Amino acid sequence: MKVLVINCGSSSLKYQLIDSESEEVLAKGLCERIGIDGRLVYQKEGCEKEITNAPMPTHKEGIQMVLDALVNDKTGAIKDLSEINAIGHRVVHGGEKFSGSVIVNDDMIQALEECTDLAPLHNPANLIGIRVCQELMPGVPMVGVFDTAFHQTMPPKAYLYGLPYEYYEKYGVRRYGFHGTSHSYVSKELARFLGLDINNCKLIVCHLGNGASVSAVMNGKCVDTSMGMTPLEGLVMGTRSGDIDPAIIEFISKKENLDLEGVMEVLNKKSGVYGLSKGLSSDFRDLGDAAENGNKYAAEALEVFSYHVLKTIGAYAAAMNGVDAIAFTAGIGENDPLVREMVVKNLGYLGVTLDEEKNKVRGKDTKISTEDSKVAVCVIPTNEELAICRETVALLK
Ligand code: ADP
Repeated sequence: MKVLVINCGSSSLKYQLIDSESEEVLAKGLCERIGIDGRLVYQKEGCEKEITNAPMPTHKEGIQMVLDALVNDKTGAIKDLSEINAIGHRVVHGGEKFSGSVIVNDDMIQALEECTDLAPLHNPANLIGIRVCQELMPGVPMVGVFDTAFHQTMPPKAYLYGLPYEYYEKYGVRRYGFHGTSHSYVSKELARFLGLDINNCKLIVCHLGNGASVSAVMNGKCVDTSMGMTPLEGLVMGTRSGDIDPAIIEFISKKENLDLEGVMEVLNKKSGVYGLSKGLSSDFRDLGDAAENGNKYAAEALEVFSYHVLKTIGAYAAAMNGVDAIAFTAGIGENDPLVREMVVKNLGYLGVTLDEEKNKVRGKDTKISTEDSKVAVCVIPTNEELAICRETVALLK
């Protein structure tokens, strides 16, 4: 089967056309600046990237351009759109309604609309992607794969907040967790890579990208995760604060004369390692370079980030009463030996020892702990598009 995987954001859209049998990416790219001016990036497997600037007032023009590029005479990856057998959509928030991937139909769309309150920035964009594909590719089966679904196995003690219970009942205020497709994929890959039985092991997955989260996976099921009702909770991230004392919101609002929206903007876009480095960068490459050149704020930002990862690993080892293996994944987890070292060197109490030579690896399945380490620590690259493709095929079979 050829599966078109679509990840639709509010002003951008990433796509990959994947052959589900060979799991080869036939073409990939993104539409950027939708509603502003419009830019299509398209790359056929083994070819150069093509960049086209063209008006994209809405997602519809963007997706139409993607489809045109896929069947283009010269660099198209397929001859005819009928070769696309299915479409897999990444969907951010499925609330409690979706504990797994689902085939897109009217009921699913309605249930998804009901989750919009929980992710007002993301879900509407995902819905637009689904509707436009229905319009442009009528009759092609589609599947929704949710960022939250993998975490739906968490027990109440992990997902309830210490708030009036009515907020949970009335509004669904609880921990949902995100990056679920990645946590699910990486936990399975980690078990496979180490020869562990996924149904009988305790794993911790550290998804460290611009957004970052850790999850505890016991016997193949998520039992806790660091992001919450929204992706703002948990680790210190690129520009998001992660956990803070909730009273800071009122305090800063008064001191800086900001309304709630203004404070939330600071917590989402101006905090994290970006804020800690005094606005230097949210990119760990820049922070690493700056720290090496003596920038104290960049060095501290890296320490705060790593320390939060370290503490969360400790919490999840406690939550599962042990841990067999730990995975590092996503942009930072796969590519930043310094952050990994800052975390793993402090896991001696778990019997972990780091293999410093192996820790130099970037972006491929590798055990970075020594052979005699009691807990295996690995770099496992994530692949959310492939995971969405697999889910789509599994559901349609
Ligand atoms: P997201 O999907 O959340 O945008 P990614 O998983 O792509 O994030 O991770 C992006 C981050 O990964 C960048 O902000 C950067 O900090 C980090 N990163 C990417 N490559 C490297 C590298 N070679 N060394 C250190 N950090 C890196």
